[in-house]
Amino acid sequence: MEISGRASQLTPSLTLSIDAKAKAMKAEGIDVCGFGLNYKPTQVVVSNGAKHACYNAILATCQPGDEVIIPAPYWVSYPDMVKLAGAEAVIIPTSERNGWKIRAEDFENAMTPRTKMLILNSPGNPSGSVYTREEMEALVDIAAGEDIYILSDEIYEKLVYDDVKHVSIASLSKEAYDLTLTVNGFSKSYAMTGWRLGYLAAPEAVAKAVDSIQSHSTANPCSFAQRGALAALKGDQQPIADMRDEFDMRRNYMFDRISKIPNVTAVKPQGAFYVLVNISQLGLTSQNFADRLLSKANVAVVPGAAFGDDRTVRLSYATSIDIIKKGLDRFQDFCRTL
Ligand code: PLP
Repeated sequence: MEISGRASQLTPSLTLSIDAKAKAMKAEGIDVCGFGLNYKPTQVVVSNGAKHACYNAILATCQPGDEVIIPAPYWVSYPDMVKLAGAEAVIIPTSERNGWKIRAEDFENAMTPRTKMLILNSPGNPSGSVYTREEMEALVDIAAGEDIYILSDEIYEKLVYDDVKHVSIASLSKEAYDLTLTVNGFSKSYAMTGWRLGYLAAPEAVAKAVDSIQSHSTANPCSFAQRGALAALKGDQQPIADMRDEFDMRRNYMFDRISKIPNVTAVKPQGAFYVLVNISQLGLTSQNFADRLLSKANVAVVPGAAFGDDRTVRLSYATSIDIIKKGLDRFQDFCRTL
């Protein structure tokens, strides 16, 4: 891997050696307070949204002949971004039993000498799944051994529920830091959807390549959106906690209602703002189910086929509780007719 080869020749930064020392102290039982991930400005590229950042990252690292592993159900744009880079998307199905998450053995089985990247999205769209630290560590161990990048889309970072803590893959170890391209943005955490601002944090060589690519597709990320993002980051974070609490209430309501409907199942989402419902026992394709639900019950859901999983449909709770209640009444009645 060209870029990773150069990145691995970099002199380890002072910040990382401090991080390593802090980890060693923690392992000895010393109560060390750490503040996250450290990146130099030359490792960060600000783009017009997280979508733009993902696309840039894939274009900068993948090319014809490369394979990119994408666990399904996936966010709709990943496979097409990979295709646009001329590489091949290798879709790995996951199961409800495993919380819609790829396991280390699934990753290993899907790997070939052409594998260039694994795309992970935690918290995930459309499943709401969140990978645990241990699950991520197992994936990193494999990727590090084979020089495979991990594109970690962490756009739903701030929307996690119960006792779940968001873990940034790049924070796990020096190996993880060197192979992870972290994408994040402001559309979900700060509800700045239309303002189009996202960013990539990556090894310097990748960030440099992304910067060159981006310089030919946009002169700069929208200037007032950058000001807005700065204000969002520096401002009072209580509205974010309040928004999360509101989502949490809607999540519990939606999941409880879905759990009571016969012949459909769901895993309780731990993050993002979606519930993925398994409708496979109802005997319809996801597209057929969604079409009929819309025409017969006036309820719009996204068929799982769009996410590479035809067993499911996705419901979003990023809408008012009144609409959620009305929509679920109709959803429940419709399922009972099948
Ligand atoms: N990544 C995931 C998983 C998403 O769900 C979305 C938007 O729905 C994006 C990226 C795009 O984010 P942005 O609006 O910042 O481009």
